[in-house]
Amino acid sequence: MDLGYSEADNAFRKEVADWLAANLPADLRHKVLNHLRLNKEEYVRWHKILAAKGWVAPAWPIEWGGTGWNATQRHIFEDECARAGTPMIMAFGVSMVAPVIMKFGSEEQKRHYLPRIYDCTDWWCQGYSEPGSGSDLASLKTRAERDGDDYIVNGQKTWTTLAQHADMMFCLVRTEQSERKQEGISFLLIDMNTPGIEVRPIYMLDEDHEVNEVFLDNVRVPVANRIGEENKGWTYAKYLLGHERTGIAAVGRSKRELAFLKRLAQRQHKGGRPLLEDALFAAKVAELEIELMALEMTVLRVVSAEGAKRGPGPEASMLKIKGTQIQQMLTELMVEAIGPLALPFEREFLEGRSDDVLDAEAAPLASYYFNFRKTSIYGGSNEIQKNIISQMIMGL
Ligand SMILES: Cc1cc2nc3c(=O)[nH]c(=O)nc-3n(C[C@H](O)[C@H](O)[C@H](O)COP(=O)(O)OP(=O)(O)OC[C@H]3O[C@@H](n4cnc5c(N)ncnc54)[C@H](O)[C@@H]3O)c2cc1C
Repeated sequence: MDLGYSEADNAFRKEVADWLAANLPADLRHKVLNHLRLNKEEYVRWHKILAAKGWVAPAWPIEWGGTGWNATQRHIFEDECARAGTPMIMAFGVSMVAPVIMKFGSEEQKRHYLPRIYDCTDWWCQGYSEPGSGSDLASLKTRAERDGDDYIVNGQKTWTTLAQHADMMFCLVRTEQSERKQEGISFLLIDMNTPGIEVRPIYMLDEDHEVNEVFLDNVRVPVANRIGEENKGWTYAKYLLGHERTGIAAVGRSKRELAFLKRLAQRQHKGGRPLLEDALFAAKVAELEIELMALEMTVLRVVSAEGAKRGPGPEASMLKIKGTQIQQMLTELMVEAIGPLALPFEREFLEGRSDDVLDAEAAPLASYYFNFRKTSIYGGSNEIQKNIISQMIMGL
């Protein structure tokens, strides 16, 4: 295992950094670096810029638009994107459903969906969770009954991220009642414009509209939109979840946020000393930095194992737990660092539309703190990840 970067890696890092400096639009960079909310147009704009460069789906096979980079290069690319402040590429299409379509989809499905995912013609959402079926996902109840060449789908999905923007949803449905709840599930690709679909907002702690309930009332879905075999959807669903968890560690973004936190805490307070000179606060920041360095080394070990053609396996759960704990601690310390400035909670601040800003840098941080409570829940809660680790790594 070699964790150092070669000269070629460093040259690659420079190529990526130079391109980002020249091509990342200043307004998007400003929003990302200042924790301001992005809208659909802004996410799509950046997606299309990367797609035009051929860098939007580095992990894909070259025949579908992948870059052919090795695992270290992909890691460097993500690191540089985070440092530069690029909007994230929505995972639902490129990193979640696309690998499933490539591995289990028909040739026709690949030819139809993959180019549309690549250039963001379709915005995807994930229809897994239901009321009562989150951690215990296999207990899901949304039904799909065969009617000729279609399924008729009835049920409810919940927590569906950004479904209000979605053109397509990948969705788990029950096609058969079996004794083992993991059997009898199928994996459908559903056009969100089909009659019978209703998307209702759920407003989060930070008052943002990020998640939804999706109701399906006699929704007609062609059988041709099923991935793989009927009743075997659980296999495809699990394959997708492995891809979801590896991306959640977000080390690059946390490194950027740590630098931001230090800058905040170095500011001179009226009549006082910078908070970073307080020994207790400085110790918390130092501890966080050590945790983050350790996480980065772990990510590099996993990346290096991937390079050696061993899959990430249950290590993905370790990365998810540690990565999200660090992200949450960063937002806690940011709020501590800005003290009373954490109070403003105005939409104008959050969307960067106000010039009457008490402190433009500090204003969105309370909302950012609230928003990040989600990270230990989604992608499979951290308690569930601990169960996976205890079974798969510790053999308990
Ligand atoms: C912001 C956000 C976005 C989301 N986006 C999506 C999305 O786009 N699509 C989608 O399908 N889903 C999405 N989810 C849903 C997410 O996957 C679930 O919330 C998550 O799996 C937990 O399920 P639950 O909310 O039903 O909680 P529950 O499963 O009811 O769990 C409640 C608590 O009990 C704990 N618990 C449950 N079972 C066990 C156990 N066996 N051992 C130990 N502890 C346990 C959990 O850790 C948790 O603390 C999103 C969630 C959030 C918060």
